[in-house]
Amino acid sequence: MKPAAFAYHAPETVTGVCALLAEYGDEAKPLAGGQSLVPMLALRLARFEHLVDLNRVEELAGVEREIGTLVVKAGTRQRVMEREPEIAMGVPLLARATPLIGHFQIRNRGTVGGSLAHADPASEYPAVALALDAEFEIARAGTVARRVSAADFFVGTWTTVMEPDELLVAVRFPIWIGPCGFAIEEFARRHGDFAVAGVACAVGSQRARIALFGVAPTPMRVQEAEDALLADAPAAEVAEAAVRELDPPDDVHASSATRRRITRHLVARAVTRAREEFRASR
Ligand SMILES: Cc1cc2nc3c(=O)[nH]c(=O)nc-3n(C[C@H](O)[C@H](O)[C@H](O)COP(=O)(O)OP(=O)(O)OC[C@H]3O[C@@H](n4cnc5c(N)ncnc54)[C@H](O)[C@@H]3O)c2cc1C
Repeated sequence: MKPAAFAYHAPETVTGVCALLAEYGDEAKPLAGGQSLVPMLALRLARFEHLVDLNRVEELAGVEREIGTLVVKAGTRQRVMEREPEIAMGVPLLARATPLIGHFQIRNRGTVGGSLAHADPASEYPAVALALDAEFEIARAGTVARRVSAADFFVGTWTTVMEPDELLVAVRFPIWIGPCGFAIEEFARRHGDFAVAGVACAVGSQRARIALFGVAPTPMRVQEAEDALLADAPAAEVAEAAVRELDPPDDVHASSATRRRITRHLVARAVTRAREEFRASR
């Protein structure tokens, strides 16, 4: 099937994008890599009168390092996360999550901001952003109007706090310094499929983070499991704590009980790997 007709706009500045989004409101949608939006349009799961292409907006692409923070502009391709040594050094979870996203053709076009704005519950980047307390820079009328923490950004399946006239311009990922270890684990039926369930884990001397994905409408942190991880509890105990309150969805890919069981296993594995890396880095 082909998408319904739409007007195509190709502005070259953030100000130009914001002006179009303000003018057309919820009849308009930004087009980034198109890897989620175009299939949805083609399958007629969504319809918009106006598409605002972000691909000519140079100020939306690139990565900048500030003190303690890696700033990833929203239009940066996912493949950059996979290939740049600076990403692997600064925010290892981003680099390690990327090869798990679809296939390389998808990552060549797909953007970091597109994945986060799309907010698929089974996506890797939202869980990474949540685990690391990333901050989202959201522009309106051409300038950054607000910064939103990852904990507040994701509202539900394919839904974020952003309004139709707002544009995600960058995501600020804290760089962990000192001894630390990271791991991301997921289960998918075939290579390149969205995860049935997954976990992003980070551990340092005084902090521990566990964010699950594919098991709820948004990525979720599991506080009790994080406390157990920090207290050096055995991996199996941390994993048990992670799934204690969990009520994953039933769908064609897996039953709720299966997702729970898979998640327990993935958390134990991620915790073991992150801890090994943490200990080796001391
Ligand atoms: C076969 C296949 C398998 C895939 N597997 C995975 C997977 O395993 N894991 C995974 O995470 N993803 C997967 N994806 C999705 C892929 O990662 C997409 O690249 C990503 O979800 C969307 O990024 P995009 O840049 O293509 O955004 P688009 O498709 O262009 O846009 C997606 C949504 O985000 C909005 N948007 C984009 N940029 C902005 C912005 N700057 N500000 C505000 N709104 C914005 C758009 O309006 C749209 O609503 C898969 C896709 C395919 C086709």
